[in-house]
Amino acid sequence: MADLAQASAWCAQRGEKFTPTRRAVFEILAEQDQALTAYQLLERLQQAMPHAKPPTIYRALEFLQRMGLIHRIDSRNAFVVCDDFPHHHDSAFLVCQECGGVTEVTMDHVVEKIAADAAAQDFSVKHATVEIRGVCKQCQN
Ligand SMILES: [Zn+2]
Ligand SMILES: [Zn+2]
Repeated sequence: MADLAQASAWCAQRGEKFTPTRRAVFEILAEQDQALTAYQLLERLQQAMPHAKPPTIYRALEFLQRMGLIHRIDSRNAFVVCDDFPHHHDSAFLVCQECGGVTEVTMDHVVEKIAADAAAQDFSVKHATVEIRGVCKQCQN
């Protein structure tokens, strides 16, 4: 996972600004094991920035995704900090259905297989996110 200094340097290298809002959203997510929805993020951001509005969050999330600093968990419509930053592989996530915990795992061969199967159907894959739902170690106890 990238820390704040790494994230800031990463953005600067790309000629992008790691603004206070982007930084605040990244920090909130970095403190979590669970994926947070945009609404949950807004509530927390408003504790520090009372004037933050939904577009503030959506713009920050779009930016952080584009920078590869966070990922979207489609099935929960929620976001997590990248655990394996920086990487260029597509991501796979283990999503606990009890506690909502999300663990990022590297499954390049799985995503490659999906792309190969799709190519056999003349389908060009642009992005694949694999989400595996189950129960995490803590919740099994
Ligand atoms: Zn990642
Ligand atoms: Zn769990």
